[in-house]
Amino acid sequence: MVFMVYVGVLKKIRDKLQYDGLPNFSIIFLYKFMEPTIKLFKILSLFIIFFAFTFLVYLLMKKQIIGYKSADVLIQAGHEGRTTGYTGAQSPCAKEMDWNRDVADEVTKILREAGVSVARVGATLPIAKVKLALSIHFDGSTAPCSSGASIGYGNLEHQALATRWKNLYSTYYPFDWMNDNFTDNLSSYYGYKYVFSQKGFLVLELGELTCQKEAIWLRYRLKKIAVLIAYFVAQELDVQGVSLPPLQPKEAFVHDEGFMY
Ligand SMILES: [Zn+2]
Repeated sequence: MVFMVYVGVLKKIRDKLQYDGLPNFSIIFLYKFMEPTIKLFKILSLFIIFFAFTFLVYLLMKKQIIGYKSADVLIQAGHEGRTTGYTGAQSPCAKEMDWNRDVADEVTKILREAGVSVARVGATLPIAKVKLALSIHFDGSTAPCSSGASIGYGNLEHQALATRWKNLYSTYYPFDWMNDNFTDNLSSYYGYKYVFSQKGFLVLELGELTCQKEAIWLRYRLKKIAVLIAYFVAQELDVQGVSLPPLQPKEAFVHDEGFMY
């Protein structure tokens, strides 16, 4: 900027000299000294603009405002890092954000050990290009025990993937399922627009933590649910080395606890 102003001033002086029809030595001075100076400063300004622009791009990429993350899988812990706005469901049994984080961390750990590259993110999503993306959540309801597990996706092509998860989780999860995309938060999840996924982006509501009996069931199985999610991802990506967790199947649990449906 300073250089541009300086060049401007030099040009003004040059024009003034020309206008006043000054004698030859002025014109000589002008062309021998001022013109090259103007050119030099012009080039310098271009360099400075170029470097400033590069630095700006670098900063924006570092802050992940532009650019993208690339990995096999994106694992998001829902609401993580949020201090304002909706920070997740809560009940005397649990804070959703804590459970989301614990499950997301465990899934990430297992997948990384199996050689899968994982972009582990919180509520602030980077622009990402992955094979598969999962956002981990637990639901809350003002009327306890009126919700349950559910799945969200922004693209109908991801429905088959969602159904495969539902089939797997249903083998163990003994509570109710809500329909896919049963809320706007699921069907129009803000994260969909940030992630380019080859196989799909699912928001997994893993159960209702405002339902006490369900929250207790979930609480003691968070790690195993994480293994189940990691197993699901490994199956989808054809990765070896992640086995099914030792989870009691739904039938056995319902039988033991005497649950009625
Ligand atoms: Zn949530």
